[in-house]
Amino acid sequence: MTIAIVGAGLGGLALARVLHVHGMDAVVYEREASRDARGQGGMLDIHSGQRALREAGLIDEFYAIARGEGQDMRLLEPDGTLLLQEDTPDDAPLARPEVDRADLRDLLLDSLPDGTVRWGHAFVHAADGALHFADGGSAPYDLLVGADGANSRVRPLLTDARPAHLGHHVVEVGIPDIDRTHPDLAAMVGRGTYWVLGGGISLAAQRNGDGRVRIGLGFYNTPEDWFATSGIPFDDPAAAKARLIDLLPGWHPRFTALIEACDEMVVPRSITALPVGLTWPSRPDVTLIGDAAHLMPPVGEGANMALLDGALLGLALAAHPDDFAAAVREYEREMFERSTAAARMSADLHTLLASPDAARKMLAFFQPDGD
Ligand SMILES: Cc1cc2nc3c(=O)[nH]c(=O)nc-3n(C[C@H](O)[C@H](O)[C@H](O)COP(=O)(O)OP(=O)(O)OC[C@H]3O[C@@H](n4cnc5c(N)ncnc54)[C@H](O)[C@@H]3O)c2cc1C
Repeated sequence: MTIAIVGAGLGGLALARVLHVHGMDAVVYEREASRDARGQGGMLDIHSGQRALREAGLIDEFYAIARGEGQDMRLLEPDGTLLLQEDTPDDAPLARPEVDRADLRDLLLDSLPDGTVRWGHAFVHAADGALHFADGGSAPYDLLVGADGANSRVRPLLTDARPAHLGHHVVEVGIPDIDRTHPDLAAMVGRGTYWVLGGGISLAAQRNGDGRVRIGLGFYNTPEDWFATSGIPFDDPAAAKARLIDLLPGWHPRFTALIEACDEMVVPRSITALPVGLTWPSRPDVTLIGDAAHLMPPVGEGANMALLDGALLGLALAAHPDDFAAAVREYEREMFERSTAAARMSADLHTLLASPDAARKMLAFFQPDGD
């Protein structure tokens, strides 16, 4: 019985690893040409996903690459008022440590036997028990697992649902080697996440393991074509930064100084999500994990859910090695309930971030008793 996983992201790799731990083989088809073909983005905070790493037999290796101090947080209002500062004590438990996405993906990749991941295989469609790839090749399968992310090409085999735009646009910028180039800004941002919220705009600056501070500027309640009308010239980084500063009227100069210090990388991201509570009638030969199954607003759940999906589907298949249909049903029953709760919470947090007084609301979210 052949298990084919499409997508070597966190979900697909966690599934392959848990199957391997239980003596089951799988093949992962990934469209990227190699593990280094594309930057893997910034930091992830891993909380519920730690269970997946435990099931994968990798929890000690994970703690070795996780950054506990990345749990530090500062929350401010656009006028510069500091509402909350949390510094993580050295002996604090690693409840939500930050990890570099590339390091976590490397940990999973290195834990798999050579040849498990077939790079350069872009899945196009499935027919008659075979996967078909963009280069004309094909491969047989008994169970096809779509772990191919937000714009999954496997998803249409199960549902017509598509991600919808959330009226939220993010522009990602960053300051390289901040300790050396801008020590004053480094001290301001601190060791973890530095959040400025208000007026339908968010600035989230986060220290990465390589000394870069990544900054996401989020613009909420914006129409779907906002990037075209925003006046941000993405092909001219210096002018783009100047325009971003214009889009922050009344923001304290220490925040606009962060934007001024950024390098030439200016990346636009449109934020979309699948409907909350998406399900489909179970099929014995196809299922979905991770963003392919339940893309959510990016508020810290997606990677954790993808890891858990992969691990729990792996455990279900190991428990029913001769009955994939039963394994898929068992996995989907639990996944639908868990991901619906996480998607609902993520949608609520997203609405909160979009509100004019988001910083005060976020403070109440973190400190419901006002302490
Ligand atoms: C800016 C940002 C910050 C985030 N921060 C956090 C965080 O702090 N905590 C958290 O929990 N989540 C976070 N998330 C969400 C998280 O990154 C995703 O939910 C998670 O990566 C989903 O994993 P996945 O394995 O489902 O998909 P992906 O990681 O997207 O992997 C999908 C893989 O499939 C491959 N693929 C796609 N199409 C094909 C095809 N046709 N054929 C073959 N291969 C294909 C892709 O190349 C990719 O390797 C963040 C997201 C963003 C955008």
